[in-house]
Amino acid sequence: MVKMNCKKIAMALLPALLLLYGAGSSAEASSFLKNGNGKTVALTFDDGPRPGYVEPILDILREKGVRATFFLVGRYVLAHPELVRAIDAGGHTVANHTFYHNNLTSLPPENVYREWRLCNEAVEQVIGKKPRFARPPGGRYNDFVAERAAEEGLRIVLWTNNPGDYSASLDGPSLARKVLSMAREGDIVLLHVGVAPTIDALPEIIDGYRKKGFSFVTVDEIR
Ligand SMILES: [Zn+2]
Repeated sequence: MVKMNCKKIAMALLPALLLLYGAGSSAEASSFLKNGNGKTVALTFDDGPRPGYVEPILDILREKGVRATFFLVGRYVLAHPELVRAIDAGGHTVANHTFYHNNLTSLPPENVYREWRLCNEAVEQVIGKKPRFARPPGGRYNDFVAERAAEEGLRIVLWTNNPGDYSASLDGPSLARKVLSMAREGDIVLLHVGVAPTIDALPEIIDGYRKKGFSFVTVDEIR
């Protein structure tokens, strides 16, 4: 009888023990943001700020009443602080896309620290707050890269919908069609600052998602 009770208690504790033991790996996984939920879509713009590209994107977002997320490159942040302030003033989320935009998986360890930290410091210097979200260039990361991001208070954001706007093979209308043909719940759409067709496609992308019943979120609104 006593034995049975012990067994029962052990069985009852098992899920809790498994949770404890699994904490290391599940904490790792939960530090990534790979998709949103429900009928929401997060538009994300990488590689900015760049003059001539950020302004029209901000105009369209303001006209359409949409807030988005901008993954900024630290050295461009310092070169164009007024654009970073405009992004922030528009209610958009400013996020970290490293300082030099290198492939983090092929850098010496000390440079990985610097890439995340210097971008954070550049953004803080300009808008007075540090980013909480980051995207490694090209989406390339490994455990070391992710751990260093976490140390800087950064959660890594990937994407669900990548139309390849940077490949320059699509014009605006075909880019919009491609994004919308891949639309699904909880989308995080990867777009780029510095690509003309992306600006052309943006109004249609926004209208298309709205027609499908989606609402727009920034990455910090994803739960
Ligand atoms: Zn990039």
